[in-house]
Amino acid sequence: MKQESPIKRRQSRKIMVGDVAVGGDAPIAVQSMTNTNTCDIDATVAQIKAIQEAGADIVRVSVPSMEAAEAFGRIRQQVSLPLVADIHFDYKIALRVAELGVDCLRINPGNIGRDDRVNAVISAARDRDIPIRIGVNAGSLEKALQRKYGEPTPEALVESAMRHIDILDKHDFQNFKVSLKASDVFMTVAAYRQIASQIDQPLHLGITEAGGFRSGTVKSSIGLGMLLMDGIGDTIRVSLAADPVQEIKVGYDILKSLKLRSRGINFIACPSCSRQNFDVIQTMNDLESRLEDVNTAMDVAIIGCIVNGPGEAREADIGLTGGSPKHLFYMGGKPNQKLDNANLVDDLERLIRDEVARRKEQEEAVIVKSSD
Ligand code: SF4
Repeated sequence: MKQESPIKRRQSRKIMVGDVAVGGDAPIAVQSMTNTNTCDIDATVAQIKAIQEAGADIVRVSVPSMEAAEAFGRIRQQVSLPLVADIHFDYKIALRVAELGVDCLRINPGNIGRDDRVNAVISAARDRDIPIRIGVNAGSLEKALQRKYGEPTPEALVESAMRHIDILDKHDFQNFKVSLKASDVFMTVAAYRQIASQIDQPLHLGITEAGGFRSGTVKSSIGLGMLLMDGIGDTIRVSLAADPVQEIKVGYDILKSLKLRSRGINFIACPSCSRQNFDVIQTMNDLESRLEDVNTAMDVAIIGCIVNGPGEAREADIGLTGGSPKHLFYMGGKPNQKLDNANLVDDLERLIRDEVARRKEQEEAVIVKSSD
């Protein structure tokens, strides 16, 4: 059952992206990015809502043109999730989305150009309390740094970020967060470790261009996992060449496995073997897809036999240990009832949903009592 994470998080300054706190003692925010054409307002709104439904705290939207900026404004009116506008170079787009209600500007001050343009963007952000995300990417390092370092290195990524940070510092603008992404796990981890001790702003973690669903999940889990274990990271994005909804689910799974956040069911299942007394893999897959809508944090152990079943079931909120002729169902760490193979998945789904409903009622009762 639930334990506190032993991870001691780096102390960072808290900033607000819309109504979502990032940094300080705020939960690590999970974000993704739309991959629709921003000018296709209906498709982008639908995707943002799907990403929100999956549990996202923040979503980023590319705004590559003034036409996209106008579309962004209309999208803004139709969704409640905090929106980050991803802008490269064009300060006019930044000014326009600031007027239209953006919650964070992802723009690198060093790439804006003339001082008056930089001033205009920083003033707009300051006037409206909009944070800026500096996003350094190994694939688009400045030419001067490419010449200096010969190839992307952690030091080059940090130096690039510090150039942008210096510009914000000169304007006494501290309302920002930073990402330093590379597709190489070693480079990304080293760069974040270096910058973590140099600034106190929140850090947005990601392994960029990590790959497809499987390979990207593995790379992101290793890279983000190492940094999160160090206590580094205030918001994460898992970059996958896949549906953004999957990015949110993987992001939560990474945080859940480190006990940094909880959302939905945390399944514990054995890989199964010839000792199994029911089809563990099929049962697990069926339950996972049937219970995707559950947000209540809960540990559910699905174990094929008594070798590891009772131990795992006792530690989980709900557990099933395969037996013969019947399986033993545990609730709150204690044997509760016997189940057989007929309708096993239906029975488990019903029992888990009953427990979810009971917990929700309990939570609501606590809220009502505390507001009395
Ligand atoms: S718990 Fe039992 S069924 Fe599952 S892998 Fe271990 S021995 Fe096999």
